[in-house]
Amino acid sequence: ETYFRARLALLMKPALDSMALRKKSISNLIRLGVNPILAANTQYMQRSTVSLVINLVGLQNAVYGILGFKNDKAGQEILHKVIETAVDIASKKSKDLGVNIIVTMTETDGSERFTTLDGEKYGKSSVQQITDNETYSQGIVFDIDTLSALTGKSAEITECNKISKTLNGSLFIQIAMQKGTQADKIKKIIEKGASITSSFKPVMQVSTCGNCGFKDEKLGDKCPACKSTYII
Ligand SMILES: [Zn+2]
Repeated sequence: ETYFRARLALLMKPALDSMALRKKSISNLIRLGVNPILAANTQYMQRSTVSLVINLVGLQNAVYGILGFKNDKAGQEILHKVIETAVDIASKKSKDLGVNIIVTMTETDGSERFTTLDGEKYGKSSVQQITDNETYSQGIVFDIDTLSALTGKSAEITECNKISKTLNGSLFIQIAMQKGTQADKIKKIIEKGASITSSFKPVMQVSTCGNCGFKDEKLGDKCPACKSTYII
């Protein structure tokens, strides 16, 4: 675990260096007016600066999957230690480079790319061993039943609050709903989520008619609007 964090530090430093360099070169291009999109639209230009963002994707997979800890008190302790290390390095590097650096656990489109890269490097079965559905963890996910049973004082929520306090960026909380969840149940869970978390995103797969775009709870094998059986 110490080795893991040392390695994280070792990998974060050059990554941040190169991010800062890239930011500088993009900023230079903009300043010199050679960025083609911006150069064509210079009428209402305003200059502002952005922070560098480190997103801890797959942190749970690493701690529970690779390091072999369980999702219990001891495992969560390690998770915190890793986040603290990341924030610590980010703040040191931030001073060195003179740019603001944020450490977050949020959602990303890039998770698939990571699993593909790791699959090529370590073998697909290694990736399958540490993931549920071949995507790496992004923030924290609750399913409806888990969240319904929680209160603001539950260990899971305390854990979320602790993580978001340690991060200097945000923590993404997702509420996963099964396909076809009833509307009143969705309403209840959204109210529940709002009362015990600071922010969350409800996620549910919704069937849509591929022919006319009809979307409804009642959509089964056949679209009631256009009779098409092409349901996606
Ligand atoms: Zn239809």
